Amino acid sequence: MKTAEQYRESLRQLNLQVYMFGEKIDNPVDHPIIRPSMEAVAMTYELANDPQYEDLMTATSHLTGKKVNRFCHLHQSTDDLIKKVKMLRLLGQKTGCCFQRCVGMDAMNALDSVTFEMDQELGTDYHKRFEEFLRFVQENDLTVDGAMTDTKGDRSQRPSQQADPDLYLRVVEERADGIVVRGAKAHQTGAINSHWIVVMPTSAMREDDADYAVSFACPADNPGVFYIYGRQASDTRKLEGGQIDVGNARFGGQEALMVFDDVFIPWDKVFMYKEAKYAGLLVERFAGYHRSSYGGCKVGVGDVLIGAAATAADYNGAGKASHIRDKLVEMTHLNETLYACGIACSAEGAPTASGTYLINMLLANVCKLNVTRFPYEISRLAEDIAGGLMVTMPSEQDFRHPELGKVIDKYLRGVADVSTECRMRILRLIENLTIGAGAVGYRTESLHGAGSPQAQRIMIARQANLEQKKQLAKDIAGIAAEKEKTCQAPA
Ligand code: SF4
Ligand code: FE
Repeated sequence: MKTAEQYRESLRQLNLQVYMFGEKIDNPVDHPIIRPSMEAVAMTYELANDPQYEDLMTATSHLTGKKVNRFCHLHQSTDDLIKKVKMLRLLGQKTGCCFQRCVGMDAMNALDSVTFEMDQELGTDYHKRFEEFLRFVQENDLTVDGAMTDTKGDRSQRPSQQADPDLYLRVVEERADGIVVRGAKAHQTGAINSHWIVVMPTSAMREDDADYAVSFACPADNPGVFYIYGRQASDTRKLEGGQIDVGNARFGGQEALMVFDDVFIPWDKVFMYKEAKYAGLLVERFAGYHRSSYGGCKVGVGDVLIGAAATAADYNGAGKASHIRDKLVEMTHLNETLYACGIACSAEGAPTASGTYLINMLLANVCKLNVTRFPYEISRLAEDIAGGLMVTMPSEQDFRHPELGKVIDKYLRGVADVSTECRMRILRLIENLTIGAGAVGYRTESLHGAGSPQAQRIMIARQANLEQKKQLAKDIAGIAAEKEKTCQAPA
């Protein structure tokens, strides 16, 4: 396994093509806006090397029998699925942001079973190729980005019907030694902190969209791949060089637009080629895994936000007020409900044909649908407790000013025995998580990440088994099938 330092160093070796604010970034690793997001991924390495977290952060590879970082592992049991959720909660607690590495883990777990099932039916060798890739990922402890979301253009049109056929990533050329792909993937979490990219189709495909039913892996710095950094609210505060106003100075999330400008992929890295019938299955499984992941990561970040709100109340002397305690209980109730869903869909998981365990799909979608709502209410309550000062406070520069600083220190103090700076720090953290850069991960990603709410409703409708529920009701009500049309009112 890599150490955090070896991970940082390995990223320096990449030749990533990254653009931000209209300029090419020569050294993404040390860029003040990118660096905190890279540090969040580095925590997945650091904690894996810490003996106290070994049980959650590492696993035994089913391929080699060697110890691997759990982010490179395929779930071999419901215990593995549960530990994954716990690991993500832990990392959310330690970073207070999206730590990005889960997308690749979820993509690899989905690809394992889907490639296996494709080979069984089609006689292809996708699974063998995928296993070779996985072995390479495990041996080098790589961070892999999972890229699914196409830009999609006109939502009323299928991929092949779009005015611009590149709005969904597609195969543009088939060669003897591989394929050439073109397109873009949007909102790519952690792409610039990853060594490799695993691309998947964005939705179920019909036969006439077969060019879009493609999955493959390529190095993050593959020729033809480039990134345009996604900006976040208050991101330029990171350029000010301070500690307070960023709210979370050490860590942050990262999203980017990833462009594939006629990129060559050799056959041994192609895991699905024009298999329209299987595109939907891959999307469904990946989304299911990632929806269960949110029952861990968002809960860990929620723990930080609840703790910040409680601290803010302590700092202004309201910590013991009954309405504050009530709000903290409500926040905890909502947060633990998300965790309960994450654990439940894992505990109810089952093996797929390849042996890799899959979460319970109904419960994973219930988990994520709750995630589209509860962090918003938790955020609302945190803002309620924080008070208006969270968004009206003077800047860190003013606080550091020799004269103004004294004024701010005097008038913005809460309880006498806590410094004004501490109060400012905790309020800025709440601001970060609820409306600042951290809200990308805690709020909007809770809504749209791993699929927007409607995608979960469709899956819940499909898995709801209403016919069985109707039968239960009919049995209790004494309605036999043969008498359904002839039920009589009592005489
Ligand atoms: Fe991991 Fe959560 Fe970020 Fe997804 S949103 S990559 S599960 S931390
Ligand atoms: Fe996500």
